[in-house]
Amino acid sequence: MALVRKRVLVTGGAGFLGSHLCERLLQDGHDVLCVDNYFTGRRDNVRHLFGNPHFELLRHDVTFPLFVEVDEIYNLACPASPVHYQFDPVQTTKTSVIGAINMLGLAKRVKARIFQASTSEVYGDPTVHPQTEDYRGNVNPLGPRACYDEGKRCAETLFFDYHRQHKVDVKVVRIFNTYGPRMHPNDGRVVSNFIVQALRGEDISIYGDGQQTRSFCFVSDLIEGFVRMMGTGRDVTGPINLGNPHEITVLELAQRIIGMTGSKSKLINKPLPQDDPLQRCPDITRARAALDWGPQVQLEEGLRHTVAYFDQLLSERGAPVEA
Ligand code: NAD
Ligand code: UDP
Repeated sequence: MALVRKRVLVTGGAGFLGSHLCERLLQDGHDVLCVDNYFTGRRDNVRHLFGNPHFELLRHDVTFPLFVEVDEIYNLACPASPVHYQFDPVQTTKTSVIGAINMLGLAKRVKARIFQASTSEVYGDPTVHPQTEDYRGNVNPLGPRACYDEGKRCAETLFFDYHRQHKVDVKVVRIFNTYGPRMHPNDGRVVSNFIVQALRGEDISIYGDGQQTRSFCFVSDLIEGFVRMMGTGRDVTGPINLGNPHEITVLELAQRIIGMTGSKSKLINKPLPQDDPLQRCPDITRARAALDWGPQVQLEEGLRHTVAYFDQLLSERGAPVEA
């Protein structure tokens, strides 16, 4: 139980990460206002919280101003998977940029501390490995990923300008690939795709030769990092990388998932999407020092929880739900 009950706004709270964060904040004894336009999030993700008198859900699009009274803001609203953020790229940029302006304006007015869910995508297709926070990135500003990458970069700029110019108390984390229960089954991300394909006995779609790397963080580890970051003193603004430095190839991930599910699925190769980063791995030295944080959940264990979630979802619905 927290010593002081705070009123906490979570934008994008009905999404994958947001729903876990709302749950954690309620457990910690806070009042949670969850705001979402349900573009990629679902009421089902937070349905189990409806009976809690400290939880409130509001349908709202962060590209429009919001007038509420809160103590802290976690700004997570933004589609995160390439399939979803490329569906309406103009709206993706608007969500990141105008959404950040609206939430920073709110933070300034009510003097709330504000947290930004930024991303490893600010590093683009990195030429420095692993990625440290002072690396400035290698982003194609014109490609299909730019609406997300540049939108998030501009949001970071806004956070630091509001901090310098208006003394807003900001906290910026750069999240690396995270997975776990409540990922959207149709979001096209590698972990959800491979698990759903394996459980349904369909071909596993390896984009390119599968030698590109990612490092996968389990959702509970990430949420712990969020809460620790929000609890730091005013001087800790970030950006701070949050992710699991254990790096594996996409091919190895597919083989692990086939092994765990006992699936008869075959691996097939599909074209590598444009601007797909070749490698990605966080340097989390800063997170360890400033937050005393590091991932605790091994890939094997995290995948087991995630497979169990999708197994139940698919058996309830027969097929993945629509986006
Ligand atoms: P998600 O798509 O499940 O959640 C995003 C939520 O934001 C959804 O509920 C969606 O409906 C909502 N949303 C989108 N546009 C909105 C708008 N205009 N107004 C209000 N709500 C809106 O994705 P997620 O994985 O939970 O990601 C949450 C945040 O974390 C995002 O900002 C994302 O960029 C960031 N992030 C996630 C990862 C990851 O691996 N999951 C990695 C890097 C960064
Ligand atoms: N990927 C894949 N098969 C899929 C989905 C993704 O091989 O069915 C690859 C994708 O090309 C990328 C990696 O897996 O190299 C991670 O993709 P994801 O969309 O999960 O996130 P990203 O890290 O690219 O934003």
